[in-house]
Amino acid sequence: MIEKRDFYINGQWVAPAAPRDCLVIDPSTEDPCAVISLGDQPDTDAAVAAAKAAFATWSVTPPAERAAVVRRILDQYEARVEDMAAAISLEMGAPIDFSRDQQAPCLPWHLQNLLTAFEHFEWVRPLRADTPNDRIALEPIGVVGLITPWNWPMNQVTLKVIPALLAGCTCVLKPSEESPLSSLLFAEFCHDAGVPPGVFNLVNGDGMGVGAQLSTHPDVEMISFTGSTRAGKAISKAAAESLKRVTLELGGKGANLIFADADDRAVERGVRHMMNNSGQSCNAPSRMLVERPAYDRAVEIAATVANSIKVGSAHEPGKHIGPVVNKRQWDQIQGYIQKGIDEGARLVAGGPGLPEGFNRGFYVKPTVFADVTPGMTIEAEEIFGPVLSIIPFDSEAEAVAIANNTPYGLTNYVQSQDGPRRNRLARQLRSGMVEMNGKSRAAGSPFGGVKSSGRAREGGHWGIEEFLEVKAISGWDDADIAAE
Ligand code: NAD
Repeated sequence: MIEKRDFYINGQWVAPAAPRDCLVIDPSTEDPCAVISLGDQPDTDAAVAAAKAAFATWSVTPPAERAAVVRRILDQYEARVEDMAAAISLEMGAPIDFSRDQQAPCLPWHLQNLLTAFEHFEWVRPLRADTPNDRIALEPIGVVGLITPWNWPMNQVTLKVIPALLAGCTCVLKPSEESPLSSLLFAEFCHDAGVPPGVFNLVNGDGMGVGAQLSTHPDVEMISFTGSTRAGKAISKAAAESLKRVTLELGGKGANLIFADADDRAVERGVRHMMNNSGQSCNAPSRMLVERPAYDRAVEIAATVANSIKVGSAHEPGKHIGPVVNKRQWDQIQGYIQKGIDEGARLVAGGPGLPEGFNRGFYVKPTVFADVTPGMTIEAEEIFGPVLSIIPFDSEAEAVAIANNTPYGLTNYVQSQDGPRRNRLARQLRSGMVEMNGKSRAAGSPFGGVKSSGRAREGGHWGIEEFLEVKAISGWDDADIAAE
């Protein structure tokens, strides 16, 4: 049993002000695997105070020096990426090979594109001159609270911490209480990289405690949040009183439009993408919309592919999918599967209950429903499990209407060999991202949604700009600009 009760505040590991244990459960076995503490107001206050004190120096540290510190975090991270993969697998159930290949390498991936963005854009220079008379300064916003979910834990943490530090902000991270181990390890990397005390702080806690305390704290200028739409709304309301900037990366219900002229692998690719990370991705293509002439064949392929996907422990090597994160999530997914059956969708793969051969662990059968109609619960709500809905359509206009008929707008997908059609659809789909013919988002491209999927973007220079304020200065002495 791992014991990690301390928080990382002002460059030190400190005990919580009042002990409140929280068990971390290994979703592969249902056994407790670690104990952490849930913080409270005094811990939040101490972390914010440390970040506030550090901001005075960090915000004026030359950008190149900040980038050098960030590079040292990357060195630490790369040296211990195996430890990171193990932590992620243990805490949230991603199979170890998947953790090693996709979950754990998130910092290196983001860092390369963030550093490139950092080095190539205007904010490394102190002032810009993009109006005729004024000088424009981009300045770090201040102390930022970073609140993250459990599903791609290091992806979400690094997409926030790294741009915040590059921008000159200081931060308090509150990772998900479901997946604290990877973040605690990340704090060790920051410490060993020599991040100055107070620049990066970590307090574990739950949403109602540390999450809400950060959202209302008068000394926190901004909350960067990734998680459910429900919590995003609560945070926005809580932050309104102190008029904080709030950036939100929320849920999704992606549509994958497959036309009859799509390439041969389109359906298989869509199913595998959906089942990836056991369906626990905000950008999962959970609604497969198939043009009528290709529909029956697509259902057949989808069922075969889903039945071929193996389910297994996060600790075993291999290309299987793991359990879902916890019992609550498992129960919720089972409820959706039952709703799909009750509301008349046609179950063609998977279904309720544990997969064959399991009596412990939060495992879910890769499940496919055909003949789903718009408005059914499984079509309308984010399930966050390995459950795919297949819906037929007869025209491009109908497909767009179904795809856009959701409060969400994160990622949509199009599969067609017809270039002009793809381009037309890319503009008509209401989402922050559109991925077509299996091409995924490039490094440095902005990640984020519209409507109930969020506000703001992460990644590339967009992700850094979220942490900056814009200051217009009139009457600047240009003769002195070199001295700035
Ligand atoms: P969640 O909203 O329950 O929790 C996310 C984080 O918010 C946790 O750290 C939690 O402790 C905290 N929190 C919860 N309620 C809070 C409150 N009232 N005030 C402050 N903090 C609060 O989400 P989850 O179950 O951990 O993650 C799954 C959700 O995240 C899904 O909806 C998924 O789509 C979404 N997600 C979105 C993206 C994206 O980039 N758009 C990426 C990954 C996950």
